[in-house]
Amino acid sequence: MRDLIVVGGGPAGLTAAIYAARAGLSVAVAERGFAGGQMTATADIVNYPGFEMIDGAELARRMEAHARGLGAEMLTGEVRALRLDPGALTVVTGSEIPARALILAMGTQRRKLAIPGEERLTGRGVSFCAVCDGAFFKDQDVAVVGGGDTALEDAAYLAGVCRQVTLVHRRDAFRGGRRLEAALRRLPNVTFRLEHTAEEILGDKSVQALRVRGVKTRAEETLPVSAVFVAVGVEPDTALLRGALPLDAEGRVEAPEGGHTPIPGVFVAGDLRQKPIYQIITACADGATAATSVSRFLRERE
Ligand SMILES: Cc1cc2nc3c(=O)[nH]c(=O)nc-3n(C[C@H](O)[C@H](O)[C@H](O)COP(=O)(O)OP(=O)(O)OC[C@H]3O[C@@H](n4cnc5c(N)ncnc54)[C@H](O)[C@@H]3O)c2cc1C
Repeated sequence: MRDLIVVGGGPAGLTAAIYAARAGLSVAVAERGFAGGQMTATADIVNYPGFEMIDGAELARRMEAHARGLGAEMLTGEVRALRLDPGALTVVTGSEIPARALILAMGTQRRKLAIPGEERLTGRGVSFCAVCDGAFFKDQDVAVVGGGDTALEDAAYLAGVCRQVTLVHRRDAFRGGRRLEAALRRLPNVTFRLEHTAEEILGDKSVQALRVRGVKTRAEETLPVSAVFVAVGVEPDTALLRGALPLDAEGRVEAPEGGHTPIPGVFVAGDLRQKPIYQIITACADGATAATSVSRFLRERE
């Protein structure tokens, strides 16, 4: 029986593991993909204190090494279910793993467009991570769909790798930062389809085109592209928690700063907790406070 299992190995989960291990708890982190979470999909991080600029994958690698170095175990595999009965907390992967306390830090995942072709061609030209997959489309024409910071950052990154990038956004203005947009508009190989919606991703075995439609004109256009990068926001990964914990309208867990939930021994941290800003530094802060809450909870039970 471990003291603590952390579900999700993003910055929140890895920081929780670091704090828990330093507090003398036995801790394991269950992660279904790469440790580091969303950081691994970020090229340059410029707002994490101590690093004027650091590659997201490198920051992830350092956090994971830090947690492992202190004795945290990394369990690879998807957590498929959680049994949240007080006193009998269990994480279900391939097997059932009991723990005295849980920190849930499953973060967010990219929202889908929900248009024909998206699911079928995911991994065959449809991507949710420009930094991870951009290099596969070197010197080819690609599209990015979305209008926030992530879409603008993805387009800027891809412009350095691909031949031509078309940015498709349904509104007449971007929600992302003005400086980012200005920089993007200066790039010769980026074109814009504002007030256009993505309607269908076409291709047999891989992406061959994206069909878009003018919001006002209703005119359709088929853009010949080899890849479509979807950047239309994120949604919290709280499907496992529906019915078990109080969630807000967006699906985030409503919990105070210490990460406490109504279930004794169950704490939340990171992007899946409702809070004012969703950043690496706030995810780390959540991990630290949740681990401290766990230490206190276990001490009170001894
Ligand atoms: C493109 C992009 C750029 C960004 N740039 C910045 C930036 O420059 N600066 C900044 O501060 N923030 C940035 N952010 C935001 C920042 O990355 C997030 O706020 C932060 O990663 C949230 O951390 P987290 O640990 O809560 O969740 P996540 O990073 O989402 O990690 C959650 C982890 O849980 C795992 N997981 C989920 N469900 C399960 C399950 N059932 N079983 C096992 N594992 C599971 C996931 O695989 C994932 O690894 C960016 C985000 C994106 C998408």
